[in-house]
Amino acid sequence: MTFFKQAPPALGNQYDDDRVLRSYLSRVLPVGVLNEIQESLRELGRLAGGELYELQLADRLNEPALTQWDAWGNRIDKIELTPLWRVAERLAAEHGIVATAYERKHGRLSRVHQCALAYLFTPSTDIYSCPLAMTDGAAWTLLTSGNQELIDRAVPHLITRDPKEFWTAGQWMTELTGGSDVGLSETIAKQEGNSFRLYGRKWFTSAISSQIALTLARPEGNPAGGRGLALFYLETRDEHGRPRNLQINRLKDKLGTRKVPTAELTLDGTPARLVKGTTDGVRNIALLLNITRLWNGISAVALMRRGLALSMDYAHKRVAFGAPLSEKPLHLDTLATLQAETEAAFHLAFYVAELTGQSEAGELSEEDARLLRLLTPVMKLTTGKQAVLVASEVLETFGGAGYVEDTGLPLLLRDSQVLPIWEGTTNVLALDTLRALQSGENDLKLGLARLSLAVSRCLESVHNPRLADAVRVARSALDHAATWLTEAERLGQPALEAGARRFSLTLGRTMELALLIQHAQWSQDHEHDPSSITSARRFATSGVDLIADAALL
Ligand SMILES: Cc1cc2nc3c(=O)[nH]c(=O)nc-3n(C[C@H](O)[C@H](O)[C@H](O)COP(=O)(O)OP(=O)(O)OC[C@H]3O[C@@H](n4cnc5c(N)ncnc54)[C@H](O)[C@@H]3O)c2cc1C
Repeated sequence: MTFFKQAPPALGNQYDDDRVLRSYLSRVLPVGVLNEIQESLRELGRLAGGELYELQLADRLNEPALTQWDAWGNRIDKIELTPLWRVAERLAAEHGIVATAYERKHGRLSRVHQCALAYLFTPSTDIYSCPLAMTDGAAWTLLTSGNQELIDRAVPHLITRDPKEFWTAGQWMTELTGGSDVGLSETIAKQEGNSFRLYGRKWFTSAISSQIALTLARPEGNPAGGRGLALFYLETRDEHGRPRNLQINRLKDKLGTRKVPTAELTLDGTPARLVKGTTDGVRNIALLLNITRLWNGISAVALMRRGLALSMDYAHKRVAFGAPLSEKPLHLDTLATLQAETEAAFHLAFYVAELTGQSEAGELSEEDARLLRLLTPVMKLTTGKQAVLVASEVLETFGGAGYVEDTGLPLLLRDSQVLPIWEGTTNVLALDTLRALQSGENDLKLGLARLSLAVSRCLESVHNPRLADAVRVARSALDHAATWLTEAERLGQPALEAGARRFSLTLGRTMELALLIQHAQWSQDHEHDPSSITSARRFATSGVDLIADAALL
């Protein structure tokens, strides 16, 4: 007797198959640049949908291992990575997934190129994006620190394409006292000549396999709070591979990101050097966080896209009630909603990449620098939430198979769930959004006007009548945000804080809608493709304005 066998979902070339990515790159890159970089993207798309994806499925049950002692009683704290991560490390260097942003072959557009590479690489490498994000952030922080000694020592390793020379970086901020309120850090830095030794406990240190870390500690005698902390550079192991006066107490047993070795550490005289000044560590590490938040957004859209790619393929293979799911109107409606959400998130994440690239190339106006300051937390918090929502729905589109581990699908949900937590939780970033609105003129309404201008720039040349309703939704959500802000300011700080999450998500979703509308108009005009118009119309009806009136609460 032969039983029914279900064909599994499959992936093609993840660059060639990605309408949204390809259409976006055609809009923002000059033809010459696109032609030059296309092969690098196609090659990574091939790997991500082919060998790497196969390796990822085969590596599913492997996890990093910590060996604390050798056979003779020596403390070694050795970390063994999984095969997938070892391959990912080599490929990341060879494909320049950090390096591309620093080689700057295409000026400000190199950041877009790099983010496109990261977007293709991320979903098949089980959050290897985590050490890459921190490596990128550390490179930028060091390069802008003016500390030539550290720049010469570390940056060439962080941005090399040679896997043998490649270093990754950790960022050690969170302590048991607080990950959001890092000003409570208890780690002490004792000065010894020109260098320092660090004493304390770090509670979440991801990718502890990294060669270096940037961390926060309080030089002895400094005041309490964030200002009294300084930013330090350290190398985790000596020339024999032994930890430098630090102990890995254990690896965290986590819901997801299980390939990432996230450790709890004791620093017991760890040698470290100041990166920039003896105070203002929290402010100085913000440069790193801007980059890791960008990576967070790119990872969010990358995981959403992976879920959809698998789900859309499966819809052609799974038959129910006499026809493939791809012919069932309600299933198609479900997928179209997820597509719209993903497409909207994509445009916001990549818009922040564009602004970041302009900033790094010194081509950003003061106004747009403030817009970038605002959109970075807004983008991170908005896309993080969308990733969890989309991953959850994607699992459901597979029915029971979506809940079964050896399909490889549950990973999508578990890994997505970290995106709203690390690099600043949704609430913490919502409060940061209020601070960002005040940057410059110290006036929340002027900050909001800056975002309104960015939305208007997207909408000004839209003329397709099918987009008219979506344009109205974007404008009305912004008007509501402005009314709420006035009212909440009048009611005072508690009202502002209480509504900050709904307000920030509304700004994020409105900006996403505006960018999606802009792209939809362009795609219709230049590619005669109405797909993005369909997504924009759908996204406009998927809850853009989430604000509840301050007085009602
Ligand atoms: C897998 C993983 C890896 C990580 N890797 C690293 C790493 O490599 N390096 C590192 O430094 N950290 C790392 N972290 C830590 C992470 O950044 C923190 O967990 C996160 O910033 C939150 O800090 P916390 O856990 O102390 O939560 P808390 O700060 O205690 O927050 C608890 C809750 O309170 C809310 N909250 C806090 N303050 C406010 C406020 N003022 N108003 C309203 N709500 C508020 C938060 O939104 C959250 O919901 C990692 C975390 C995870 C899960």
